Amino acid sequence: MDSPKSNDSTNSGLRDSTSKANDEEQDELCPGFRNADAFVKYGLGAVLSATKASASLPQTGDEDDFYRSFPGFREFCESQGDKLLHCMSQIMQHHGCRSHLRDQSKLTGLEERFDLVVDSNDVILERVGILLDEADGVNRTQQPVLPAGFQPPKIVVSSWNRMVGSRSRSETFRLLHAKNVARPQLKFKEKVDNSNTPFIPKIFIKPNATKPLSSYFTNKQIRKQRPEDLDVPAALADLIHQQRTQEHVEDMFAHPYQYELDHFTVPEGLLSKPEPQMYKPISKTKCSFIDSLEDLVALNEKLCKLSEFAVDLEHHNYRSFLGLTCLMQISTREEDFIVDTIELRSELYILNEAFTDPAIVKVFHGADSDIDWLQRDLGLYVVNLFDTHQASRALNLARHSLDHLLKHFCTVDTDKRYQLADWRIRPLPEEMVQYARTDTHYLPYIYDCVRAQLLDFNHGQPGLLQSVWNKSRDISLKKYVKPIFTEESYLELQRKQKRSLNTQQLTAFRLLFAWRDKLARQEDESTGFTLPTHMMNKISEELPREPQGIIACCNPVPPLVRQQVNELHLLVQQAREMPLLKVRRWLEPMFLPEVTMFGPHDTSRVSEIYFIQPVRFACSCFTSCDNSAFFLKELETPNDQDSHSVAQMKARRIIESFENPFRMYLPSSGVHISKNAKFDQSSKIYEISKRWKLQSIEQQQKELEAKREAKRKSKEEAKERSKKESAKGDVKKRERVASEVGELTPKPSKKLLKSAEKPEKKEPPPQDDFNPFDYSQSDLKVFAGTKPKDNTQFDPNRRNNECKNAKGQKSSSGPGNRSMSYMAGKSERGVRQNWPKR
Ligand code: AMP
Ligand code: MN
Ligand code: ZN
Repeated sequence: MDSPKSNDSTNSGLRDSTSKANDEEQDELCPGFRNADAFVKYGLGAVLSATKASASLPQTGDEDDFYRSFPGFREFCESQGDKLLHCMSQIMQHHGCRSHLRDQSKLTGLEERFDLVVDSNDVILERVGILLDEADGVNRTQQPVLPAGFQPPKIVVSSWNRMVGSRSRSETFRLLHAKNVARPQLKFKEKVDNSNTPFIPKIFIKPNATKPLSSYFTNKQIRKQRPEDLDVPAALADLIHQQRTQEHVEDMFAHPYQYELDHFTVPEGLLSKPEPQMYKPISKTKCSFIDSLEDLVALNEKLCKLSEFAVDLEHHNYRSFLGLTCLMQISTREEDFIVDTIELRSELYILNEAFTDPAIVKVFHGADSDIDWLQRDLGLYVVNLFDTHQASRALNLARHSLDHLLKHFCTVDTDKRYQLADWRIRPLPEEMVQYARTDTHYLPYIYDCVRAQLLDFNHGQPGLLQSVWNKSRDISLKKYVKPIFTEESYLELQRKQKRSLNTQQLTAFRLLFAWRDKLARQEDESTGFTLPTHMMNKISEELPREPQGIIACCNPVPPLVRQQVNELHLLVQQAREMPLLKVRRWLEPMFLPEVTMFGPHDTSRVSEIYFIQPVRFACSCFTSCDNSAFFLKELETPNDQDSHSVAQMKARRIIESFENPFRMYLPSSGVHISKNAKFDQSSKIYEISKRWKLQSIEQQQKELEAKREAKRKSKEEAKERSKKESAKGDVKKRERVASEVGELTPKPSKKLLKSAEKPEKKEPPPQDDFNPFDYSQSDLKVFAGTKPKDNTQFDPNRRNNECKNAKGQKSSSGPGNRSMSYMAGKSERGVRQNWPKR
């Protein structure tokens, strides 16, 4: 930032044609090149001719072999090849990449060399990306933007906001640190919920409802109650809380206006051709800043009387984990309103009266994100949305941005210079208010224009216009999905980056990713602020041996990295302890985390053989998971089924039958919650896993009872047997009993095994005696103590004893934990104090 010279020279190349005077002030970019443009032109020419030349080289195979039989050709190729490799090595060295391309001893084959080149290309391109972003003003660290004069300027003149042509230099954009902006989160009445749990709608009143809001939302007591608020012992409080929430799970995650939106029809009159109603000039339009409840109520009343109004939001996501809606712009045909959504965050729900009124059209441009933000921060929903972006698409306009529509329909030139501004600042500078209102001011008029054109386009038939309304409705049906950390999240990012890492590097990347996610949630900062991805890449690539090395990978050093450099160093050290394997494709299973059983499945009841080799889950919960396929090795081919015992076959069917109990909580994009989450004490995924436990307990209970029954029976039988030692049928009986009750790991004595062998081979594995457990049928009422105590009723203490007895050691985990792959020591009931308080 403080090297304006280099910045300017790069920029001068980019805007070469517009500012000759500037060029004269500049030194040459590099010898022989006046500016970046000239350099790029030359470079591109050279690359093109090199590519052409290489394409006309003899093809590998016969052609190449033939040419190479001439010593002259061979020598020439070798010397040229050497030169090229030397040149490439130099470039790679220059960029700090490994570069022993020519060193035959270090690398064996072409493949490795190719990998090396690919790696280096990635590094170089990453760097190019960063520099381009910087030149664009986008700056990877997304330093927020303030209007000129708001703070003493630390100026970076950047190209993205530069107006081509007439604008003077003083008008160019200033990219500033927003260090002095107070964190709005601090004054939120309701604290932000960054926990690793799915989003639950904020709504508690549902205006314009055809279907009433479920009691979960209307009953404040149910909604607000936390287990810790209950005046009963902790274990009981958890159970009661789980049961209460369980009853509402479906409602909790549904779209509150699903029904109304499903039944929404566009008012007849809106499908006929309108006469566009011209907008009022901005200068003659009243603009009100709404930051009090009183004004908000008045605004709502005004809006409720209209047939349409336009809405837009401004958002900030650098100094917040989930992001913050900072501003709402509303334009009617007469007035503009700027609503302070930070100040009125907890009150804005009242606008639902107008926002969900099907008779009032809400015009947005590109509403996708707005719909998310409205739900997430303000509890607002939209019924009868018209998205002008969708209209622009349907009309097949040249571009679909708002700028373009403004130019096209209103001949208004705008610049989006404040789009990335720090919208948290208050009082909002006049320039930003002016910018903000242009985002909605013209929309009602554009709405008229596009409707008219959509009808004209379709020869007066409403089909096309209707399709825009349908698309808009689909957008308003979107549900906000909170980012959920899973054990595989890092792989998604890694996959996108297409870098090839070795096991140590990938482990470091995984650990850093988890550290970053956890800290960002905790501190309510974005992951980009906590540790930008390019820095995380660098640390995981270089695996610095010293904390100082970590600092050296980051420029500028993010505050949280500086604060926690020792923790980070430990993570890197941990990664360094991994056996070093070259991983050419990150997909290869060997460096995936030490997970054999993946998911909330009962591992304890699966026969031993399934643990010797990791099992491939064929269960429904992971069929959508493209990781599962390579995650776990295939245990068996269909042909070797015969060689498995009844118990093994049963175990497999049990595994296959499991439904992912989290599915209902998951966003549709295939996010998988896995066992890692439980390790995070501050994460509420634990709470979910307990819910799952709750669901599974009954199943376990049944099995437990069955087991007991079986034990009792077999004891009786054993007694009998000892009386009549010669009785032959016993063994068989016993075996059958064991398999009937789900005793999956029978360890019969040798004697039993021998005699059991024969009948077992004769009998095909019973197919019908196992019914997959249907979780949806769980009778959770057993936990409420409403039923008379019977054998199937859950008793935490009894279960604990059972664990203890079964393992012969004290189990620290809570009920049911023994049989979870989500288990782990942290999820005891006793550690409730570790839950984040809301
Ligand atoms: P807009 O609808 O264009 O006013 O944008 C709304 C919000 O989206 C802005 O306040 C920004 O936070 C965000 N946004 C818009 N465009 C971009 C972009 N190109 N890059 C990052 N964020 C953006
Ligand atoms: Mn917008
Ligand atoms: Zn906007």
